[in-house]
Amino acid sequence: MKIDYLNRLNFTHMKPLFLCLASFILFTSSCKSLKEGWDNLNLFPVSQDVELGKKVYLEISANQTEYPELPEKGNELLYQYVRNIVQKILKGEKVEYANDFAWKVTIINDLNTLNAFATPGGYIYLYTGLIAFLDSEDQLAGVLGHEIAHAAKRHSTKQLSKTLGVQILADAALGKEEMIKQVATTLLSLSFSRAHETDADSMSVVYLCPTHYNAAGASGFFKKMENQPVPPTWLSTHPNPKNRIQNIDGKHQRLACTGKETYQNEYQKIKNLVAKITPVKKETTPTLPQDSIKTNPKTQVPVNSGDEDKRHKKLEKPGGK
Ligand SMILES: [Zn+2]
Repeated sequence: MKIDYLNRLNFTHMKPLFLCLASFILFTSSCKSLKEGWDNLNLFPVSQDVELGKKVYLEISANQTEYPELPEKGNELLYQYVRNIVQKILKGEKVEYANDFAWKVTIINDLNTLNAFATPGGYIYLYTGLIAFLDSEDQLAGVLGHEIAHAAKRHSTKQLSKTLGVQILADAALGKEEMIKQVATTLLSLSFSRAHETDADSMSVVYLCPTHYNAAGASGFFKKMENQPVPPTWLSTHPNPKNRIQNIDGKHQRLACTGKETYQNEYQKIKNLVAKITPVKKETTPTLPQDSIKTNPKTQVPVNSGDEDKRHKKLEKPGGK
């Protein structure tokens, strides 16, 4: 997929940010806070999350082969149902940028993919395969809360800052348009760190806590995944589901959330609707050349390095669950 998300973006703020980065390294004393600071370092202003999100949304809309969008017409109830869950979460007033990001829901008509993801700036994508897999509305709300957290906590632009930060600063200062384009390409193959995954799991509980939902809904998803006779391959490279369940349930206890609703009966009706959707025939060859984006050929910057979670290549591109 040919993209140049950052082509029109303004990088003039990068010079002062370079000084900030230097100060950050000099004055952050302990290893723990250095690690936390590194995880949360973001060289992009919030406005660029919004702009990147729009760009990615347009690219995805234009790629119906890989992302066959479920039309709104004829599926109004389903869209309304998912949007209603998102609105309930946003109304809990715990979500950062609730009024600034798009929070737009798109459903992808693909029963074989167990997936959801969100772009920077809050464009949320949900596969029919995931809706069909889950058992109750609180589980879906938990998964949506997790995706909302990736956008609201700005994990994508933080990850971009970590992966290519110094390179961006150096090259953007020199006005290298080509470098900026390559950074944009990185977004599509972005992987989240385990720390960001854990953060998104925890925030899912925080966001659901003020609602009527069982706020530990996301742990229901991981419990179901654990019980699969043939676990998906991404589980082997992913943070241990047991740890994720413990983290989510522990957070739920600590926050003493009172919501208990699972809305299982309502959810079954939605699953029945999904079962009636005619699947789109998907081409087997993805249009996105996965291998070409693992390494930036000019800078030799590894796009997926460190403790990043390789599951996202398959399960959550770009920048999702
Ligand atoms: Zn995630």
